[in-house]
Amino acid sequence: MKIVIVGGGAGGLELATTLGHNLGKKGKADIVLIDRNQTHIWKPLLHEVASGSLDADIDAVGYRAHAYKNHFEFKLGTLGGVDRARKVVLLDAFVDEEGEEILPQREESYDYLVLAIGSVSNDFGVEGVAQHCTFLDSPAQARRFHQRLVDRFIRLNRDLADGQSDRKLRVAIIGAGATGVELSAELYKAQEWFTSYGLREITPEHLEVSLIEAGPRLLPALNDRISSGAHEELVKLGVNVRVNTAIVSARPRSLVTKEGEEIPTDLMVWAAGVKAPEFLTHIDGLETNRANQIVVEPTLQAKGDPSIFVLGDCAGCPITGPDGQQKWVPPRAQSAHQMASSVGRNLCLLLREKTLQEFQYKDLGSLVSLSQYTAFGRLMGGLARGGLSLEGKVARMAYVSLYRMHQVAIYGWTRTAVVALADKINHFIRPRFKLH
Ligand SMILES: Cc1cc2nc3c(=O)[nH]c(=O)nc-3n(C[C@H](O)[C@H](O)[C@H](O)COP(=O)(O)OP(=O)(O)OC[C@H]3O[C@@H](n4cnc5c(N)ncnc54)[C@H](O)[C@@H]3O)c2cc1C
Repeated sequence: MKIVIVGGGAGGLELATTLGHNLGKKGKADIVLIDRNQTHIWKPLLHEVASGSLDADIDAVGYRAHAYKNHFEFKLGTLGGVDRARKVVLLDAFVDEEGEEILPQREESYDYLVLAIGSVSNDFGVEGVAQHCTFLDSPAQARRFHQRLVDRFIRLNRDLADGQSDRKLRVAIIGAGATGVELSAELYKAQEWFTSYGLREITPEHLEVSLIEAGPRLLPALNDRISSGAHEELVKLGVNVRVNTAIVSARPRSLVTKEGEEIPTDLMVWAAGVKAPEFLTHIDGLETNRANQIVVEPTLQAKGDPSIFVLGDCAGCPITGPDGQQKWVPPRAQSAHQMASSVGRNLCLLLREKTLQEFQYKDLGSLVSLSQYTAFGRLMGGLARGGLSLEGKVARMAYVSLYRMHQVAIYGWTRTAVVALADKINHFIRPRFKLH
């Protein structure tokens, strides 16, 4: 049996690793992971790559070496489509940055296919956003933003040293969900490190971060306590928080609100929502929802094709909310993690010709980190049955432990402990911030 997983992200890499151990190692199935990148960075860390508090070159997991150690095969490729009748995935030609072809257009056959290709930013068709705003969908985009940030800080420092005291770096972040809120705080931390590391002219007053939200409050998906706590802390840092402000167009150096106000800015990050990649809506016969997600059965098999499983941000998995309303499992790392475990279990059951289990989503709570300043969160389940609110250092530790749990899923406990120790040593011997 050959299982092909496309997308080695928060869910896909965990699944490939588990199946490699449970099936690949014992020769019960061939496991193939396909990704368009050569390395994996856990997506919830991308805002830290963007600010420089995380060096992606150190933290990234190389797919090939990881596959070799964990009994699966890695193939580099970008999914372009699926031919369900012939049970093959279609991979686009792979070209390098200069446009030279590295790998031709190819096909990969499968007995079972798992789609785990995540999501992309949703610009909701707002004029100019695709051209002028940065998205944080991939490590490459996060690195690009970081490079621009470094260049702008260096130029600002020079202008201030030349006596142009009115100069500021203006960053606008559109969307006050977790990504927007966390990135705002990270930018102030970045400014502190830039000043400490020699750009001495720059003070917090020279950074102007505007966090712009169309709705009435920050973190709309989280409770009031977390939302107001994060709002207060961001204002203390100096963030210009603007709620009830809808952006209707983006220009090269400014944003325009619904009321016609023009907000001048040097860097713009669009973090106002996600959707699954558009081409999923063209996979013949598969049902998709308004967010382009492939609609799945309770077993996480695609509706109408039991040989395709879908997990993570690209899966449209209906659930009933506590208020009895039908909704979709939210596009979050914990959903991808839980779905990966469920798909792994079901593929093993399929092999043994047993009945598949239904996926049950458990909301384990939410955590939001404001860089190293503070964190807020609410944990659910286990001992915190009625919900446990966390704040400050404890919330920050819980937040960090989320990444450690992802590392446990891909490295196991022993290696994760060694990696955590290596991180501590790196913290001591390397610069605390990436400044190039
Ligand atoms: C800045 C940021 C902060 C976040 N913070 C949080 C948080 O605090 N908590 C939380 O729960 N969630 C957070 N999220 C959301 C979370 O990252 C996602 O929900 C989660 O990563 C989804 O996992 P996934 O496996 O579905 O997709 P991903 O982790 O996005 O992985 C998708 C993989 O598919 C690959 N891929 C994509 N397209 C193709 C293609 N055509 N062909 C081949 N490979 C492809 C990609 O390279 C990637 O490796 C955050 C997201 C961002 C961007």
